[in-house]
Amino acid sequence: MKISGITTGTDHEQVMTAEDPALGYRGIIAIHSTRLGPAVGGTRVWHYNTFDHALQDVLRLSRGMTFKNAAAGLPLGGGKSVIMVNGMLPDRRDLFRAHGQFVESFGGRYITAEDAGSSPADMAFVREATTHVAGLAELSGDPSPVTAHGVFRAMQATLMHLHGTTSLAGKRVAVQGVGHVGYHLAEELYRAGAHLVLADIDESAVSRCVSRLGATRASPEDIHRQIVDIFAPCALGGTINARTIPELGCAVIAGAANNQLGDANDASLLAERGIAYAPDYIANAGGVINGSREILGWTAEYAAEKVEGIFDTMLQVFQSASRESITTAEAADRLAMVMLARGA
Ligand code: NAD
Repeated sequence: MKISGITTGTDHEQVMTAEDPALGYRGIIAIHSTRLGPAVGGTRVWHYNTFDHALQDVLRLSRGMTFKNAAAGLPLGGGKSVIMVNGMLPDRRDLFRAHGQFVESFGGRYITAEDAGSSPADMAFVREATTHVAGLAELSGDPSPVTAHGVFRAMQATLMHLHGTTSLAGKRVAVQGVGHVGYHLAEELYRAGAHLVLADIDESAVSRCVSRLGATRASPEDIHRQIVDIFAPCALGGTINARTIPELGCAVIAGAANNQLGDANDASLLAERGIAYAPDYIANAGGVINGSREILGWTAEYAAEKVEGIFDTMLQVFQSASRESITTAEAADRLAMVMLARGA
């Protein structure tokens, strides 16, 4: 395996790329910050058109992890990895063992887990090459249901701030992407009495929800235009942008996807339209909190309590945004920066 450094001109501590052509493996690991502890962030497996697209994604995601972990009060830094796939996926065991070797080369400064495109089974392959991995099936397990519950609590906090109630009964919620997190979120919303409108580029994922959860189907191109109380982006990032914001039909945005906003100005555009935005990295911290059981030795009960705490953190973000006349995105960043300044 050939491992080499990348100079990015950003504030990341370390960015490396690794390649093993014989196995069809090519990955990038970005450590944004270890100020609060070892950098923790999942492994995204994706078809990127160019190496630069993959690099931009991992840089943005790893920076987001620093803010997410800090705002969640975790003694952990921020990092992330991506595995680039083109066409046919190589043997998963080979692919993830190679990735584990790459993770191991950081000597514990970076700890990985699942993200979009990877699963607990894949983490078991990573574990064959390194101990610096969380999200194993027999330990903290699949983070997705926990992430989904955290997003649900974030929705409740947003409703509490806006309307003084946490009830989702009768609310219309549009979910964009019903994969690992989106499906569990849709299930919890269904149990809470919400009406669901769902879209996914994978037809079979939507069909499962339509039959089990009595949901309505929308096309992936139209899901953000649905007239609903809440829009939950649970696919990939960047779907809330200058093009889609004027078309949004929701009063609230609260979802699981990382980096939901196309750029920093989009938070102001949402505020101008009177759409309440529950910042993504506060809402979706449940997965990393759950994975912390393995990293920090927490009990399941303690981690579950911390996930419930997403409600209070989100409420605090909305309150400080109102008090200081700033966007909720800025309020979340300020909260994270206070934690970062405080140090480990
Ligand atoms: P996943 O790959 O299981 O699900 C994503 C789903 O979105 C897939 O079903 C995919 O077909 C669909 N999709 C992709 N593009 C779409 C589009 N344009 N329109 C509609 N659907 C589309 O991933 P996941 O683990 O559920 O994660 C979803 C998001 O949440 C990602 O952004 C991830 O980074 C973030 N996240 C996940 C976790 C976790 O615990 N898994 C934790 C924190 C954040």
